[in-house]
Amino acid sequence: MPLSSSLDGYTVWFVTGSQNLYGEETLRQVAEQSQEVVAGLDGLPVRVEWKPVLKDADSIRRLALEANSDDSVIGVMAWMHTFSPAKMWIAGLDALQKPLLHLHTQANVELPWADIDFDFMNLNQAAHGDREFGYIQTRLGVPRKTVVGHVSNPAVRQQIEDWQRAAAGRQAARTLKLARFGDNMRYVAVTEGDKTEAELRFGVQVNTWGVNELADAVAQATDAQIDALIEEYIAAYDVAEELLPGAARHQSLRDGAAIEVGLRSFLEDGGFGAFTTSFEDLGELKQLPGLAVQRLMAEGYGFGAEGDWKTAILVRVANVMGAGLPGGASLMEDYTYDLVAGDEKILGAHMLEVAPSLTTAKPRLEIHPLGIGGKDDPVRLVFTADPGPALVVAMSDMRDRFRLVANVVENVAAPDLPQLPVGRAVWKPAPDFATSAACWLTAGAAHHTVMTTAVGIEVFRDFAEMAGTELLVIDEDTTVRGFQKELRWNQAYWRLAQGL
Ligand code: MN
Repeated sequence: MPLSSSLDGYTVWFVTGSQNLYGEETLRQVAEQSQEVVAGLDGLPVRVEWKPVLKDADSIRRLALEANSDDSVIGVMAWMHTFSPAKMWIAGLDALQKPLLHLHTQANVELPWADIDFDFMNLNQAAHGDREFGYIQTRLGVPRKTVVGHVSNPAVRQQIEDWQRAAAGRQAARTLKLARFGDNMRYVAVTEGDKTEAELRFGVQVNTWGVNELADAVAQATDAQIDALIEEYIAAYDVAEELLPGAARHQSLRDGAAIEVGLRSFLEDGGFGAFTTSFEDLGELKQLPGLAVQRLMAEGYGFGAEGDWKTAILVRVANVMGAGLPGGASLMEDYTYDLVAGDEKILGAHMLEVAPSLTTAKPRLEIHPLGIGGKDDPVRLVFTADPGPALVVAMSDMRDRFRLVANVVENVAAPDLPQLPVGRAVWKPAPDFATSAACWLTAGAAHHTVMTTAVGIEVFRDFAEMAGTELLVIDEDTTVRGFQKELRWNQAYWRLAQGL
């Protein structure tokens, strides 16, 4: 089945807490007004479904169990419109395994000062009802996002949307199967990691296949399938003349198309949403997969080069979190620097595998020699990522835990690069180049990242909270001294937080 990154099949449940103390008339108003709050959330990327008002411990626990068992439910939002004594929530919150958002809101925006009587006060007491709820969540150590304000406020909606996108990424990780073709690049440290822990922490199944199983699938590609792809390439890209039908190197493009056909069928047959390759282990493949990998990433697949399955997870998760938004997600590698003082830039690229979803321009489809891998010259898409806000995120295995490190960056217009035949991005990192690089190195963050131009740091913050994973952020507020302290504190915190 073709891979989907759509958020359409997902749901978030909206639950309202109350109790039986207030009588039917008040509870009817609670139900009505909580439905209005849900109606006010219309148009978010994930549908919000209203659930009947919860008034006792047993129904709360049952709702949590139902949410856990329904794969389409990716999170639960909770609001205490009235006062919902929080001991009623202990069993339910303890059982809940889905991401939680505590919406601290109110039915009305303005207070009708002249008309307020005690019935109004009784009905609209989230101001303290939600504090009771906050207490029990904190007492139980429940990870959650707290959003404050009226749902008509765009800032409130944006925070809820970010959380929804993170929850979709969380769900995508939980159902992700990742195929590695070959092992990690020999002698490299940071692309290693604990695959068993990754399955527990993120839910991802990471397993390896011999690359010749992929080569067998490539050999099954038919002329008709290859012809259809060639037509697609010609329509979508500015194809180099030597690669066109009848031209001298057209066979290389056909070989590249065959790799795409085989790779896609292997991934679809196995239900994989992410994969890795290794230039040291290409078996019977004629070229290092470049074009095919680039296109599959742009379609939503996760990918990591040199066996880097951790980055492949991040690319897949970022693709789902950014579903429907402009921009995309790609493997990226910090490659080389422009060190002009005060105007430093990072030129990021890879041997071939950067996703064309980072550009709105028409990529060039070209062929060039590749000194690494010992195979035929590979076909690849050549372009520069669009200028605009972006984020790079890396995952390292720190032995006792995974560490995510994110840097808020700005992609900038690149000078002409006529001699550089790969997809690339040129960016300026926040808060400045020296601080960013010093913090990155101090954190032991990887050289491979996911670059996303679709979602911002808040979505990754929410994702890390849901996944119970350390996230260090380098942004406009970061200083090297402050960052060093955070690293030390985290070293203690994340070990304590794991318990025994
Ligand atoms: Mn690399």
